[in-house]
Amino acid sequence: MKSKVVLAVGAHPDDIEFGASGTIAKWAQEGAECYYLICTDGSRGSTDPKMTHKRLVQVRRKEQEGAAKILGLKKVYFLDYTDTLLTADYALRRDIAKIIKIIKPDIVVTMDPTFYYSEQFNFINHTDHRAAALATMDACYPLARDRLTFPEHEKEGLTPHRVEEIWFIGFDKTNLLIDITDTFVKKIEAITMHKSQFENMEHVIKRVEERARYFGITKGCKYAENFVRVELF
Ligand SMILES: [Zn+2]
Repeated sequence: MKSKVVLAVGAHPDDIEFGASGTIAKWAQEGAECYYLICTDGSRGSTDPKMTHKRLVQVRRKEQEGAAKILGLKKVYFLDYTDTLLTADYALRRDIAKIIKIIKPDIVVTMDPTFYYSEQFNFINHTDHRAAALATMDACYPLARDRLTFPEHEKEGLTPHRVEEIWFIGFDKTNLLIDITDTFVKKIEAITMHKSQFENMEHVIKRVEERARYFGITKGCKYAENFVRVELF
């Protein structure tokens, strides 16, 4: 992974931590240049009656920056769309394509745009997760690739970029498992940074460990993360 550039796009601060931070930390350790792009401001994720919109945005940004430091990221970009209202519209696609043209990633990691709910795990996927993933997929192909899409970018001096691979964070689909045994501790530390989100962090960590162990068994290692990788050529 040396000399590769990686961009992971999530809807909220903490999204990528759960799905891919073991893999991202591993790539960063190997010398890849890794970035996050967080689409929303995370301003609705609180049950605290005293919490305000403004303060929560600041708290969550700080938590994400803290996690980024642990994982060895180069930078976190924030688009600050309003939490829970994200749609894969022109503006979001344009803004993600712009970051792709700026940092020129070889690999883009995001969530699964096709994942609505899981019968097996009794779980509904957040609307922002689907919107962020869909807009990211479209931004990679074809939007960031073509010169004539978003002429405003060309006016700013940005050139088109061809992303080589998209890695969708797997929920119920998998075509690739990554051994994260060596970076599992960093993944847990990064998740732990998002204190505002979890009343029972021990329970969260237990769930994360169970899932990583489950995929580790299939991979033949202690802990693994699962993805659907699509090559774009
Ligand atoms: Zn989320």
